[in-house]
Amino acid sequence: MHQSLRLLGIGGIGIIRMSGKECFTVLDRIFTPKKPQSHEEIKGYSMKYGVIQEKGQVIDEVLVSYFKEPKSYTTENMCEINSHGGNVIVRKILELCLQNGAELAEPGEFTKRAFLNGRIDLLQAESVIDVIHAKSEREAKTSIKQLEGALSDKIHEIKQEIMDVMINLEVVIDYPEYEIEEITKQEIENMLQSVEKKLKRLEKTFDEGKIIKEGIKTAIIGRPNAGKSSLLNAILQEERAIVTEYEGTTRDTIEEFVTIAGIPLKLIDTAGIHEAKDEVEKIGIQKAKQIADEADLVIAIFDSTRELSDEDRQILAMIKERPSIIVLNKTDLPAKIDETTKELQYFSSSLLKISALNQWGLDALYSKIEEMFHLEEINLDQDVVVTNLRHKKLISKAIQKVEEAKKTIEQNMPIDICSIFIKEILEDLAKITGEFVTEDIIQEIFSQFCLGK
Ligand code: GDP
Repeated sequence: MHQSLRLLGIGGIGIIRMSGKECFTVLDRIFTPKKPQSHEEIKGYSMKYGVIQEKGQVIDEVLVSYFKEPKSYTTENMCEINSHGGNVIVRKILELCLQNGAELAEPGEFTKRAFLNGRIDLLQAESVIDVIHAKSEREAKTSIKQLEGALSDKIHEIKQEIMDVMINLEVVIDYPEYEIEEITKQEIENMLQSVEKKLKRLEKTFDEGKIIKEGIKTAIIGRPNAGKSSLLNAILQEERAIVTEYEGTTRDTIEEFVTIAGIPLKLIDTAGIHEAKDEVEKIGIQKAKQIADEADLVIAIFDSTRELSDEDRQILAMIKERPSIIVLNKTDLPAKIDETTKELQYFSSSLLKISALNQWGLDALYSKIEEMFHLEEINLDQDVVVTNLRHKKLISKAIQKVEEAKKTIEQNMPIDICSIFIKEILEDLAKITGEFVTEDIIQEIFSQFCLGK
């Protein structure tokens, strides 16, 4: 039998999901509804109350949701048993399903079926993973949009344009005796130009998408007692902050992902800040430089109650050429330095005054970041954003081939050569939506899924 079945986490309720032609038959063997009804009578998108039984003994009271083909997540018959949560009961029901004809689902099996059955394309399937793993609201929004098919539509639109180029090429190839070649060549060039422009726009959104997905890599640097920990804590304590901690990728560090006022920040080396109190002295300016090198944004913090020290000057010299914000801290106390200080004048447009202790000036800091990274311009309601590296690579490949194709026209090469490139562009784009992928790629993509999805 081809039922696929999974258990979804442990919580207040447990959900066991079955999909496949015979899933209602399996259900019948273990579920006794309060008001019995035949499968034919039961409507899709409905729920029934009853008990799961084993040899006449009640295992749990449950609610079962019914979905009838083709109107379900997988397009197959589906049911979801909502039981009481907790390992024991959910496991028991799962076992009963298995004993009565169901098979255990692989990770991503349900979404894979939705893809194989043609309800969603590969790109949409991949966005399901992104929705699940979204670390911020903005990221979740982008992924949901992809799931709804916004990027797929865009890719199809571009593919259609390329098909038109193809048709034009065929005419030239098939009827060389007509003197249409010259005009058509011009037309083909224009069409390729338009395709290239659209693909490049999509490619560019990847960098913006990357910010949404991965956060702006931010390093807070400053000499001992400037207020690094205090600033960090102020950011993390902010009510709207959603914090996820995970191992840093490049060194032995903890990175914290924070979304604050819609701004996704990945704070790097925050462990270092927590531990090494006298950071700059201890780790040296060289190491601070390394941290800053890794960052998309450096927040350099200075104690405004003290004159600038040599280390401060070194830090200033170091950040001159990189995206940075200067923060003068402890402005609740009388200041010894401000924007008029000689060494700081150069930075006047990126200088802010705050009090980390009193949490003053943080909003200005967030606005500054928003402005620097053009976050306000990333309009998720209008723009289709590419967030997946696999898609981005295929788009970049397609762009290269558009350029090659254009070259063949410019250099008056035989038109068949151009058509070879055009075919390859179509293939690259078809790989994004999954019309043209190998079993291996499908396998690899779905293996990233969690169980039950
Ligand atoms: P770090 O060594 O750079 O991490 O600095 P800390 O965050 O540990 O701060 C050093 C000292 O300065 C602590 O005693 C903080 O309470 C104090 N401090 C930090 N920010 C402020 C501020 O805005 N105003 C005042 N008055 N003190 C602050």
